[in-house]
Amino acid sequence: MKKHNFSAGPCILPQEVLQKASEAILNFNNDNLSLIEISHRSKPFVEVMEKARSLALELLGLKNKGYKALFLQGGASMEFLMVAYNLLNKKAAYLNTGTWSYKAIKEAKHFGELVEVASSKDNHFSYIPKGYSIPEDADYFHCTSNNTVAGTQMKEFPETNVPLVCDMSSDIFSRQLDFEKFDLIYAGAQKNMGPAGTTLVIIKEEILGKVERHIPSMLNYQVHIDKDSMFNTPAVFPVYVSMLTLQWLKDLGGIPFIEEVNNKKAALLYAEIDRNPLFKGMVTKEDRSIMNATFTLTDESLTEKFDKMWVAAGINGLNGHRSVGGYRASMYNALPLYSVQALVDVMQELEKSHL
Ligand code: PMP
Repeated sequence: MKKHNFSAGPCILPQEVLQKASEAILNFNNDNLSLIEISHRSKPFVEVMEKARSLALELLGLKNKGYKALFLQGGASMEFLMVAYNLLNKKAAYLNTGTWSYKAIKEAKHFGELVEVASSKDNHFSYIPKGYSIPEDADYFHCTSNNTVAGTQMKEFPETNVPLVCDMSSDIFSRQLDFEKFDLIYAGAQKNMGPAGTTLVIIKEEILGKVERHIPSMLNYQVHIDKDSMFNTPAVFPVYVSMLTLQWLKDLGGIPFIEEVNNKKAALLYAEIDRNPLFKGMVTKEDRSIMNATFTLTDESLTEKFDKMWVAAGINGLNGHRSVGGYRASMYNALPLYSVQALVDVMQELEKSHL
């Protein structure tokens, strides 16, 4: 039986997607060729790319609204750089909610003045700062919707007149948002979409073309848009698997459906963390992430015992990020509710054995 996979990323993908993807490796479209040995310019692959781009926009409700979807390479980390290259003329505003925001800030600093509007560093990024203001003359405001490491998630996004840029790597397609509020969204595939190797970038095209510097072709969003996300050889397999996952999500009922499931999973686990005296959550309750729940044992001497118990229960990937410690249960779209129940059962068993 497949393990209960709580890995933070790369992470669980739907079993039927894995099945179809493995079939395509051997024989794609019954054409007696593998998906990864045909030209990316061939009709079957161009169709895959177009479908993936179209599904991404459709699921986010952004079709025919001036947005373009791209599947690029270099991970979300490359977008830290590309966003600044393409959008930062003089000044950009960033919200610092942890490791990934900080890395984005570090890259953007080289391109102009950087205003950190607020930071939760003072308390180990265990909360989302609120009540900050964004300079009206900023070229854009950048935030990270979900802090994969600490386990915090933005529930609200600021009202601002400057373009809104968001790293949604670890919660894209997991909850309903007013996506039209955003001018640029990016997300590495390896959480809710597919294997590592491609990054989805959604851009409102009208925000481009406003910087004065020369942008190298590979880093230029407009070049990728003009070439329909085929400026160079795309990551064919990750794009194909992403397309399958997006189709899976659409068939299930899209984001409204999966959001309900995700809320149930998170409610089940957080209720146990709060009820069971042997565990405690690591972040401010109102900012808890629906995707990544972080917690610790209240008695560290139980660590070895608990670790053995969850491994024996077929649970994978529960260790916290190396910079934080403790535990992190990542509950991405493809994780079934029964996997969360399996973890809760182990937490309750630990409590019983401890009494
Ligand atoms: N942003 C967030 C929110 C992430 O969780 C990650 C990776 N876990 C990244 C950016 C970096 O992504 P990549 O490794 O694809 O560059």
